Amino acid sequence: MPQDRVYFFDTTLRDGEQSPGCSMTHHEKLALAHSLADLGVDILEAGFAIASDGDFAAISAIAQEVRGPKVASLARARQEDIERAAKAVEKAARPRIHVFLASSDIHLEYKLKITRDEALEQAAKMVALAKTYADDVEFSPEDSTRTDPEFLCQFVGAAISAGATTINLPDTVGYATPEDYAGMFRNILEKVPGADRVILSTHCHDDLGLAVANTLAAIRAGARQVECTINGIGERAGNAALEEIGAALKVRADVYPYECGLKLEKLYPVSQQLAGTISFGAAPNKAVVGANAFAHEAGIHQHGVLSNPLTYEIMTPVSVGVPANRMVLGKHSGRTALRSRLHELGYRLSAADLDIAYRAFTELADRKKAIYDQDLINLVAHHQRHEDLISTERALS
Ligand code: MN
Repeated sequence: MPQDRVYFFDTTLRDGEQSPGCSMTHHEKLALAHSLADLGVDILEAGFAIASDGDFAAISAIAQEVRGPKVASLARARQEDIERAAKAVEKAARPRIHVFLASSDIHLEYKLKITRDEALEQAAKMVALAKTYADDVEFSPEDSTRTDPEFLCQFVGAAISAGATTINLPDTVGYATPEDYAGMFRNILEKVPGADRVILSTHCHDDLGLAVANTLAAIRAGARQVECTINGIGERAGNAALEEIGAALKVRADVYPYECGLKLEKLYPVSQQLAGTISFGAAPNKAVVGANAFAHEAGIHQHGVLSNPLTYEIMTPVSVGVPANRMVLGKHSGRTALRSRLHELGYRLSAADLDIAYRAFTELADRKKAIYDQDLINLVAHHQRHEDLISTERALS
């Protein structure tokens, strides 16, 4: 496999869907799966087959209908889970079974109530079982970042020996820093026999706002699959945001010289589709896809962007599918931006008229938080009616 390629593993329909306010219907999942395929993700985690009949049905339908990405189902390291996952993805052109088992002492002791040795044996046995159903088996030691590093090496080694082709090292609770997370990948590559022959994968949560930073740090340390979601939805504070990783790889290709299959101009449309499907959209100040991600309000910034977008923009809105540069007009805006917006709205004012309009605009902006196109149209129309009255009065006198 080419080492300069980063594979995007989208888990919007699994980790994303299992978070509050994010439930989706069968048809919504199918529609999103098609859009994610168009976006160019490499692997689609379509659900957790044993979790519910609805999940099973959605994974089966996606496996049958959606072409392009590999289709994966999550499974605990248990026979019935793996059989259910295998059944759900069997119609996929390229099925994957994703098996997970916790590896940290806190999870082993309090959640699973098994010893490290028992966990090791169970992991190897269940990866081998999954292998009888699919060539492509991913294994995740859940809570990797809080696992004893030596035991993590043993655990990963056992899964590779049993046939796992992708090893995912999740920061399940969003605890790692970029240095920690990169160090963990380096350690695995250095100490585990065969680690260089499988794909190592990231899965980061945003509890400390570090999910994307951790993901990028791990890529530099050798990870070649990234697990992420649209708009960063997911358990608690969410997962690493797909659009942010994709944009970072493109804009900072000097630091991250890796190829990926994403068509970045589809990012905004998919983000909007997800926002319309679940109960909330991206925050206005969200990177790449937020409503203000390409908005400029301060006069100096607006003047700069109108002269040359590169003055204040590191990527063009169009490159990530945002329709056009949307200047936000407010009390910090200058004449240049007002003239430009009025021009877009079809008004060509003389310098004197622009002065009058600008004065009226700043008065309005002092009273209103945001100025919409309709406000500008009213403002100019009011001014023109006023002018018409004056000229009519003059003509009559
Ligand atoms: Mn997760």
